[in-house]
Amino acid sequence: MAAGNDGAKTVASGPPVVVIGAGFAGLAAAVRLADAGRRVVLIEATRQGGGRSRSFDHESGMQLDNGQHLMMGCYHETLAFLRAIGRDGAVSFQRNLQLDMVKLGGSRIKLRCPALPAPLHLAAGLLTMRGLGPLHKASALRVGMFLRGEVVRPDDNETCDAWLRRLGQTDGIRGAFWDPLIWAVLNDDPLVASAAMLVAVLERAFMGTRDASRLGVPRVPLSRLYVDDAVAYLRAHGADLRFGQSVRAIACDDRGVSSVQLRGGEIIDTREVVTAVPPAALLDVLPPAVLRHPVLQDVAKLTTSPIINLWLFLDRPLFDDVPFLGLVGSPLHWLFDRTKIEGIEDGGKVLLNCTISGARGFVDDSPQTLVELFRSEAARYFPKSPIRVLSSKVVKEKRATISHAAGTYHRRPEVRSPVAGLFFAGDWVRTGIPATIESACQSGHMAAAAILGNG
Ligand SMILES: Cc1cc2nc3c(=O)[nH]c(=O)nc-3n(C[C@H](O)[C@H](O)[C@H](O)COP(=O)(O)OP(=O)(O)OC[C@H]3O[C@@H](n4cnc5c(N)ncnc54)[C@H](O)[C@@H]3O)c2cc1C
Repeated sequence: MAAGNDGAKTVASGPPVVVIGAGFAGLAAAVRLADAGRRVVLIEATRQGGGRSRSFDHESGMQLDNGQHLMMGCYHETLAFLRAIGRDGAVSFQRNLQLDMVKLGGSRIKLRCPALPAPLHLAAGLLTMRGLGPLHKASALRVGMFLRGEVVRPDDNETCDAWLRRLGQTDGIRGAFWDPLIWAVLNDDPLVASAAMLVAVLERAFMGTRDASRLGVPRVPLSRLYVDDAVAYLRAHGADLRFGQSVRAIACDDRGVSSVQLRGGEIIDTREVVTAVPPAALLDVLPPAVLRHPVLQDVAKLTTSPIINLWLFLDRPLFDDVPFLGLVGSPLHWLFDRTKIEGIEDGGKVLLNCTISGARGFVDDSPQTLVELFRSEAARYFPKSPIRVLSSKVVKEKRATISHAAGTYHRRPEVRSPVAGLFFAGDWVRTGIPATIESACQSGHMAAAAILGNG
């Protein structure tokens, strides 16, 4: 096979590795495999790819995302993937962790972490947090001090709520710090979400380096962030890209995986397949004998949790000092000023994103009801900044992520499946962290490493 341009490595040969799905997980796996000289066939059901992190053309002429995505400095696998395709510079990271939370009436709680080694930076940030009394700050510090100790470590059966109560966390620190963090990273209610999953995030974000806890926002729509350049990279490395083609079935024989059949009827013979699709899509394509395996029986029990995003075109800014902020005690969790983040100039008008995580209670509401909810929350939280909503677009992702309810982690499968040659990737496989972009990229890299014999 001829090599591509852009200084691509030459000649991928030998039997193909079939990667199914072109979201973060599939593209991260495909790029790793192609980079190692493997012949890759990438099959993606949609024409554009991107999966649950994708952009679409809006009637305004802008590209909007299916949802605002936030990253952290501890997204090492994601950053490695973006670096490989030359896009790591397209995410704006804070210099040090900072967060503004708005209370009813408009006053702010401000977390500003100084340039100290971790976790001292967080301790100092919490101690100097403006807008919160000393009792609340002290209770949060206690968690930080004891996090490494076995006594406070939750197992997967303990909910975040029970864990935070066990550690004496006050309502004040929960509203300003813990609960927004849990909704954001676990996409679920603290009353049901697993505390072990929360601790996995705390360890990666706050116990490593100071940079790990910084928040990062893509400066461009998601498809431009990673899909376009990953596709260009793969093309240049001679990959066979099948967008707009769907896998109907994966076949196995007594040696393991044997072929992949497309909906169009084509059969691709292969002994190595990476599935990088959500659980329901995986269960759809596996043979009945494999579905009977206990590992797949557990996968079938995974449930999902929705996210709703409101895209709002406003006549003027609601806030203009920070790119994003959270609301304390509101069903609307985060507001992102995309005009500021993308550096768009539109005569003072503002494109605002509003995210509702774990949005089970809202998925049946009409777009008008949700925009009305935004209007009334905006008036309650920003009484000094009256705005008009000029137009809006509501995106409901009913199966945004798997649910991280306490006691469900064991249902997530390992990357090495029970079938020889078949590898599971996707944000929902057993990566040790919640279903996020980072989990997706980590799983893709793990699947590639398993195939390349170094994982
Ligand atoms: C609204 C929203 C907001 C989010 N916010 C954040 C955030 O702030 N930070 C964060 O880290 N994460 C966030 N996430 C989670 C993040 O989007 C996911 O973790 C990530 O996109 C999952 O990637 P994936 O590759 O595992 O799966 P997917 O993105 O679901 O990709 C699977 C791909 O497989 C394809 N496919 C399915 N079946 C077949 C088939 N039979 N044949 C061929 N192709 C098939 C699909 O079309 C799809 O493109 C958010 C998710 C949503 C929905």
